[in-house]
Amino acid sequence: MSTLKAVRGTRDLLPSETGLWNRIEATARSVFERYNFGEIRTPIFEDTALFARGVGEETDIVSKEMYTWEDRARAQSEKTQMLTLRPENTAGVVRAYIEHKLGETGQLQKLYYIGPQFRRERPQKGRYRQFSQIGAEVIGPVSAGSESPMRDAEVLEMLATLLDELGISGWVLKLNSVGSASDRPAYIAKLKTALEPVVGQMCVDCQRRAVTNPLRVLDCKVPEDQPFIDALPKIADSLDEASRAHFAAVCAALDTAGVPYIRDHRLVRGLDYYTRTTFEFTHDAGLGTQNALLGGGRYDGLSELIGGPKAPGIGFAMGEDRLVLTLLESQQAKPALAEAYIAPLGETQNAAALELARELRRSSAGRPGLRIELGDGSFRLKKSFEAADKVARAIVLLGEDEASSGILTVKVFAAGVQSKVPRSDLAAFLMAAAT
Ligand code: AMP
Repeated sequence: MSTLKAVRGTRDLLPSETGLWNRIEATARSVFERYNFGEIRTPIFEDTALFARGVGEETDIVSKEMYTWEDRARAQSEKTQMLTLRPENTAGVVRAYIEHKLGETGQLQKLYYIGPQFRRERPQKGRYRQFSQIGAEVIGPVSAGSESPMRDAEVLEMLATLLDELGISGWVLKLNSVGSASDRPAYIAKLKTALEPVVGQMCVDCQRRAVTNPLRVLDCKVPEDQPFIDALPKIADSLDEASRAHFAAVCAALDTAGVPYIRDHRLVRGLDYYTRTTFEFTHDAGLGTQNALLGGGRYDGLSELIGGPKAPGIGFAMGEDRLVLTLLESQQAKPALAEAYIAPLGETQNAAALELARELRRSSAGRPGLRIELGDGSFRLKKSFEAADKVARAIVLLGEDEASSGILTVKVFAAGVQSKVPRSDLAAFLMAAAT
């Protein structure tokens, strides 16, 4: 029988990696809470129409990359439906905002999510078919300030703080404005005119995009196409007065707050729903071409696009897989060691060892519970020492003598010293040894 494997583009995360994933998620949650965001969890599949309308039929995501299937009716009362594994989470969050009438609260909704997304892309380092994003959205009625450039600046400042707290040094914030829905048609028309005489000499993707979605030509990475793209009109020259002022205010707030950025005229992002501010944070450690850690922007018309009220918003999605790769490249991720390994000396001590482990693992009198690995009384002493040395900072020996006297034998590996410790002092002793 052939062996079954994880599907191409998906992978298992083993405990040697999930420690870092959990640390990233804990840091993200802590930062979001300080900025007063609340968590939202939306389903991982949605009606296909949500993405077709929200993300845009002509985007690569919708036209090529979605996992879509026909979900057959199981009862007469049900309809057959086209469903899709979510390729991104913003459309789902905005659908939930509309469905739960969150706009009627009159307040700004500040929502974050952490979870898997699915795209049928060609797998490579940093690009998977199931990947995880950490993202956030600020959305609400105009009267709540949702359109204000301060929202953009605050989200960007929060991201700079998050990357700093995650220990990512050397990130670069690239910033642009793609204008309002009314600026865009004029720019696209200019772009089409400028592309006409040259597009025949560009890559096949650009030839297709020039017809279906000319903005995406600006995303092209093919080296031979770059001189043509550099010569195309800049969107900055097509912004109306209001969009220009909005962008200037975002930049001014970042300057005052001390968040560095560079202006990137070509940053239009792949999805149709973006208006005004678009941004990306990139980092070069080990990611090659997949160096975008996160991307986002403002989407003032998205709610209306999927049938909701006017609800301007701004958000981002950060690729967790790429963050992990970046952190692994830039620092030694050490496996977490248990504070102690408890070695019962003989099988008669197994139950007493479990009792001791229980005592140490549970928090008590303000002391947090310790991370404890429990050995086995059938192991010889040498084997216990070898096992303990791999997973813990210290070994605690529990034989008949220790059990009757209440004085345990503890060896702290880093110090190489063996000590006798009264049971009542053991937790404090192990905690001190771990710091
Ligand atoms: P996007 O939704 O395309 O703007 O992507 C936002 C972020 O998600 C990117 O900057 C990446 O870090 C991450 N990302 C997007 N697609 C993938 C993928 N196929 N595999 C891993 N990470 C991805």
